[in-house]
Amino acid sequence: MKKHNFYAGPSILPEYTIKNTAEAVVNFAGTGLSVMEVSHRSKEFVAVMDEAISLVKELLDVPAGYEVIFVGGGASTQFCMVPFNLLKTKAAYLNTGAWSTKAIKEAKFFGEVVEVASSKDKNFNYIPKGFDVPADADYLHITSNNTIYGTEIKTDLDLGVRLVADMSSDIFSRPIDVSKYDVIYGGAQKNLAPAGVTFVIVKQDALGKVDRAIPTMLDYRTHIDKESMFNTPPALPVFAALQTLKWLKNMGGVAEMQKKNIEKAALLYDEIDSNKFFKATVEAEEDRSLMNICFVMNDEYVELEKDFMELATSKGCVGIKGHRSVGGFRASTYNALPKESVEVLVAAMKEFASKH
Ligand SMILES: *Cc1c(COP(=O)(O)O)cnc(C)c1O
Repeated sequence: MKKHNFYAGPSILPEYTIKNTAEAVVNFAGTGLSVMEVSHRSKEFVAVMDEAISLVKELLDVPAGYEVIFVGGGASTQFCMVPFNLLKTKAAYLNTGAWSTKAIKEAKFFGEVVEVASSKDKNFNYIPKGFDVPADADYLHITSNNTIYGTEIKTDLDLGVRLVADMSSDIFSRPIDVSKYDVIYGGAQKNLAPAGVTFVIVKQDALGKVDRAIPTMLDYRTHIDKESMFNTPPALPVFAALQTLKWLKNMGGVAEMQKKNIEKAALLYDEIDSNKFFKATVEAEEDRSLMNICFVMNDEYVELEKDFMELATSKGCVGIKGHRSVGGFRASTYNALPKESVEVLVAAMKEFASKH
């Protein structure tokens, strides 16, 4: 049976990415060698890295003065690299969930951290609004998409302060105004590539302003100067990332993706809102994620949760179990997820309602 992959991360990748990567594992760029066994200094791999970097710039319309790097360590290492490189005295953080909380913890090693607002009071099921950001903050850190709770900041905030964003789970899902950010980062394993590579977009001018010494590997300038080849890059994930970037371009780019993502999400949220057995955990429409759609059984039907899980599984739906801190269900509708998969899930919800 065809599987419908709703995992939150690692998560679905385009068939194009999987096929081309599988081929390159056997025979990379006509070398007769696997992409796993060639030097990262070979002209074939250097070409992969260069093209991946230039496609990120092209797809996101990255302005002059910004660099794109691929590093290891996941988004979790960026939680400390950001303040290491950017936090002079004080930074502002918006707390919208577990990942923000972890970022805040790391920033406190480097200076004063002002938590400008938090949605912890309601298990992070909304995005706080109307908060003040100290004018002297070096930056405001946001988690644009909260993978666990299904909330998303879908616009580029205008709060009179430089932004830093963890975009692990919504990068390339919409056009962004990169000029508002000093750093955009994320683990690739949600919307781009297999786990093992981390993307960072960084504004050159934001660097070199802190007084502290920065260990070589944790200094953005190291990776910028060496074009992401200071040490051995994760070659296979970078190759796969390039395939996804090419696929994105063929699909019409991030604006086209955004249209598709809006359509897919509307389909599922509409069913959740109209089906009496289910309810969305995020109420405010403007806060609802287009990437991770969280829902639970309505109060009087909680004991039917297992039944629905079984029905959905029997239709080929995989990975819809909600995160343990939210419960219920989470359908991740990343770029690579076809609309057809959402239709299958929605049909299962309708069938469930008619059966009960
Ligand atoms: C998955 C995730 C992370 C953690 O990424 P790692 O690459 O595993 O460190 C951080 N932030 C967000 C928003 C995520 O979804």
